Amino acid sequence: MCGIVGYIGTQQAYPIILKGLKRLEYRGYDSAGIAIYNGNDLGICKTKGKVADLQKKCEANIELEGSIGIGHTRWATHGEPNDVNSHPHYSNSGNLAIIHNGIIENYDSLKKELSNRGYTFQSDTDTEVLVNLIEDIKTKENVKLGKAVQIALNQTVGAYAIAVFDKTKPNEIVVARLGSPLAIGVGDNEYYIASDASPFIEYTKNAIYLEDGEMAVVRLGKEIKVRKIHDDSLVDPYVQELQLNLDQIEKAGFDHFMLKEIYEQPSAIKDTYRGRMLPDQGLIRMAGIDDNLERFLNAKRIVVVACGTSWHAGLVSEYIFEDLARIPVEVEYASEFRYRNPVINKDDIVIAISQSGETADTMAAIKLAKENGAFVFGVCNVVGSSISRETDAGAYTHAGPEIGVASTKAFTTQITVLSLIALKLGKAKGTISNSDFHMYLNELELIPYKIEKALESNEHIIKVAEVYKDAKNCLYLGRGFNFPVALEGALKLKEISYIHAEGYPAAEMKHGPIALIDEQMPVVVIATKKGHYEKVVSNIQEIKSRKGKIIAIVTEGDTAVREMADHMIEVPDTIEAFTPLLTTIPLQLLSYHIAVMLDKNVDQPRNLAKSVTVE
Ligand code: GLU
Repeated sequence: MCGIVGYIGTQQAYPIILKGLKRLEYRGYDSAGIAIYNGNDLGICKTKGKVADLQKKCEANIELEGSIGIGHTRWATHGEPNDVNSHPHYSNSGNLAIIHNGIIENYDSLKKELSNRGYTFQSDTDTEVLVNLIEDIKTKENVKLGKAVQIALNQTVGAYAIAVFDKTKPNEIVVARLGSPLAIGVGDNEYYIASDASPFIEYTKNAIYLEDGEMAVVRLGKEIKVRKIHDDSLVDPYVQELQLNLDQIEKAGFDHFMLKEIYEQPSAIKDTYRGRMLPDQGLIRMAGIDDNLERFLNAKRIVVVACGTSWHAGLVSEYIFEDLARIPVEVEYASEFRYRNPVINKDDIVIAISQSGETADTMAAIKLAKENGAFVFGVCNVVGSSISRETDAGAYTHAGPEIGVASTKAFTTQITVLSLIALKLGKAKGTISNSDFHMYLNELELIPYKIEKALESNEHIIKVAEVYKDAKNCLYLGRGFNFPVALEGALKLKEISYIHAEGYPAAEMKHGPIALIDEQMPVVVIATKKGHYEKVVSNIQEIKSRKGKIIAIVTEGDTAVREMADHMIEVPDTIEAFTPLLTTIPLQLLSYHIAVMLDKNVDQPRNLAKSVTVE
């Protein structure tokens, strides 16, 4: 969580850092801060709230001239979000300033030791302990900043991406990472530092991504030297050329990133299957699977580990893998998986799903699976992310940057990738016939166009949202492939509108949740023609008899549900296995419009952050 930005060069640092923080705000946004070195002194400005609040405060309070600076947008882990706990944090002498993404787990014992030696602390953060530890080492051992950072980090347990500045040596910024991402943009006699490339993409396309356990001294007029934190060995920095464009990270005329990303789903799914799915040749090509085909074919079991929306995509894949490839699947919350003693065998395949590829819980689950000898396959969106590097093989979703905190296109593209894998394995194992394989491929190729059709219900969905925006609770029901969609629909509503919502398998309703139904309770039921239609229709009747309000997601042309539902939202017909790709669209739009009507911050819902890099 949290975004860090730094600049050292010849331009004015403040506007670059401020704009960079706005781009990174999706990563954390409960407080923010900036420090600018004006050639003489370091001006720090911090505030609870958003980057816009920071901007007002900085422009009224500190000198903004200067071409070196660091900035931070926080997602608090230690200490409430207030001005004092915001980053940057100073060391006791006032010479060092630090920004930090992550958690220093042993901060408490370090703090006690430092306190015993006379250090005092203004904030409740783990970060302030780290900057004082660095200062303590620097003074005690009389070493340069880079060395002091290295020694200090070797005494810490936890996760970090940090940038440290020393105003007594104001021509460098020391950076390091372990478990949280950090990129260095390489410009012309200038360097940018950021959690991802979005803050500097408009200035340079050249970037060095630090690997876990690496640090660098970013010094003006010098080439970057990268070294391993634990043994000081030098690493050749790999300067890569970025493919990202500026318009990919801007709103392109939409009011919110979330809406833009909902509407991007047709093209995102095409990007997911482009070059992989070749219906004319009756082929699916995926290097990560092709190179390990035997392993996949001999797998006794697939264990999916993921969190949040990715976990829901994993649940959809359970139905798809079992149906098409006849491989047993278990879907685990990554955070639970790692804290029990899971039975993992060498012939299990673990599939880890994460949009950002940085999710700390998923990362920890991967490490555990690997220790147990499993083959781990990653499904991530962010190219070069930690999970994509840690896994044995993988497939990117190619959905493009997802900035809205509530995940939308990541979900549908994850399902698309997982469907391609299941189809490929099903064909290779002979669990689906050649003609079915072709039929699935042809249908998957049509899904983007069917999503476009589903998006045409937007105006109608706005009217439905108007009716239910003041609901206090909401139930989502689905069966089979659409049960995980019900969970995802409920999650979307909770995340951005703060209305309590629960997803249930439709048939489970009678074992408990039916007691909640009265004339106040909206119930969203996914009742598409394919997949237990009659049974779901019976469930709708049960709700109707108890006066619940029914919003039904149905297949185009449905007539039976019309008689019972208060509102109907149609999606095109498709094969059962692909219905989640369509039924999820109206649920995304419904929660989006309700949240907008309630005046909630859709792209940055309270307490959440986009990439959850803390456990
Ligand atoms: N642990 C630090 C804090 O609570 C950094 C959290 C973050 O990654 O934003 O301030």
